[in-house]
Amino acid sequence: SIRITGMNKWFGQFQVLHDINLTVREGERIVVCGPSGSGKSTLIRCINRLEHHQSGQIVVDDIELNANLKNIHKIRSEVGMVFQHFNLFPHLTILENCTLAPMWVRKMPRAEARDLAMHFLEKVRIPEQADKYPGQLSGGQQQRVAIARSLCMRPKIMLFDEPTSALDPEMIKEVLDTMIALAQEGMTMICVTHEMGFARQVANRVVFMDAGRIVEENAPEAFFHNPQNERTRTFLGQIL
Ligand code: ATP
Ligand code: MG
Repeated sequence: SIRITGMNKWFGQFQVLHDINLTVREGERIVVCGPSGSGKSTLIRCINRLEHHQSGQIVVDDIELNANLKNIHKIRSEVGMVFQHFNLFPHLTILENCTLAPMWVRKMPRAEARDLAMHFLEKVRIPEQADKYPGQLSGGQQQRVAIARSLCMRPKIMLFDEPTSALDPEMIKEVLDTMIALAQEGMTMICVTHEMGFARQVANRVVFMDAGRIVEENAPEAFFHNPQNERTRTFLGQIL
């Protein structure tokens, strides 16, 4: 679970997040949306401490995120993250991309890491690409590898930051299908995305951010059909 209370973050003089309160229980799926620059990426980067907050509390799986390095290592291995750009290592094969962290961080024996990687590559439906290099795959396939690679670390929580926004339309569905399958298995997920069909289908709650604040949070049905906030209405008017 994730519990964020009264959290504020600044970049220098600029306050990027204001009084963020958000609770995500185990197995819940949250979709975060909002205009460009509203702080969506910064918020989820704070959850695995790629960014650090200055005040308030972030507790992930009963571990409070603070300057304690031991906590940071623990969180990093429990929270997987998938970015807009897949960030695969170009000089490693798909299989090697997936076995690297389990072998070096988890000290898993090579054979076991390979089995695990093949298991998740099958899950994202590209086991046949295992010996290719990232540059030989389509964007959608690379993103599915990025998801499999994250899963190889056996995360309890997955964070997605606009995983489909750099993809051609025909590849978006294959990545969303992978995420839907993960949701159906009960993975705790926070997804920054403007794919509202996905939000309708899998989200327990949709969170709308504007100018560094959470301005609305509701079940998808209510969020889409009866948005309470003026800025939410404007935003939905632009993207739907
Ligand atoms: P987008 O939809 O374009 O991805 P976002 O909602 O993810 O936007 P963030 O990337 O979280 O927005 O950025 C929020 C604000 O913080 C923006 O004004 C951005 O310019 C600023 N910002 C982000 N990263 C930094 C940084 N490292 N240093 C200073 N300012 C930053
Ligand atoms: Mg962003």
